[in-house]
Amino acid sequence: MSRDARFNQAMRRQQAAVQARIAQAPEERSLLLLLTGDGKGKTTSGFGMLWRALGYGQNVAVVQFIKGTQASGEELFLRQRHPGIPFFQMGTGFTWDTQNFAADQAAARRTWAQAAQLLQQSDLDFLLLDELTYMLAYRFLEEDAVLTALRERSPRLSVVITGRGGGSALRELCDTVSEVKNLKHAFDAGLKARQGIDY
Ligand code: ATP
Ligand code: MG
Repeated sequence: MSRDARFNQAMRRQQAAVQARIAQAPEERSLLLLLTGDGKGKTTSGFGMLWRALGYGQNVAVVQFIKGTQASGEELFLRQRHPGIPFFQMGTGFTWDTQNFAADQAAARRTWAQAAQLLQQSDLDFLLLDELTYMLAYRFLEEDAVLTALRERSPRLSVVITGRGGGSALRELCDTVSEVKNLKHAFDAGLKARQGIDY
C-alpha cells in the first residue's frame, strides 16, 4: 500500500472512531471541571476556557481564592480591558504568608459567599473558581456546603475549579478531571518566575 493510501485509511478509521464516540455522547448540559495536580498549567487552563467562552459572547466570572503578592497578567487584562466581567479575589489577601487561621477562614467565607451568589446567577455561562481546592483542604469551607452549591448551580452554568488535591468527593462530582503532572519545572533549576509565563 502506498504512503498516501495508508494515510487515508488511518484517517478514515480515525474519523469513524470519532463519529462513533460523538454518537455515544448525545447528552448536552453544563459541566463541572477540576484541574488539579502538582504541575504548572491549572490556572492558565482555566483562563484559557474563559477566553474561549468569551469568544462566543458568553457571560463569565472569576473568583480567586488565593491572591498572590503580585498581580497576574490575567487579572490585569480582565480588570483593564474587560472591567465589566465580575472578578473577585479573597478580600484580606490570603497568601501563604498570613498564617492566621481565623482571619483566613473569615476571608475564605466572604469570598465563598460571592462564589455562591454567582453559582445561582441564571444568566451566567462560565465561572472559574481558582484555587478553591485549598479552601477545602484547610477546612476554611465546609465540603458538603460547597459540593451542594456546585451540584445545585444554575443549569446553564459551567464551572472550572483549580488547585491541587480537592478530595475524592469533589472529583466524583466533577464531569471532567484533569491532573497536570509535574515532570519538570524551571523553578527547580533555580529559574525565577517569569512575567507572562508564571504570573
Ligand atoms: P499557572 O498559573 O501557571 O497555570 P498553576 O495554576 O498550575 O500554574 P499553582 O500551583 O497555582 O500552579 O502555582 C502558580 C505559580 O506557581 C506559577 O507561577 C507556576 O509557574 C508555579 N508553579 C506551578 N507548578 C509548579 C511546580 N511544580 N514547581 C514550582 N512552581 C510551580
Ligand atoms: Mg493556580
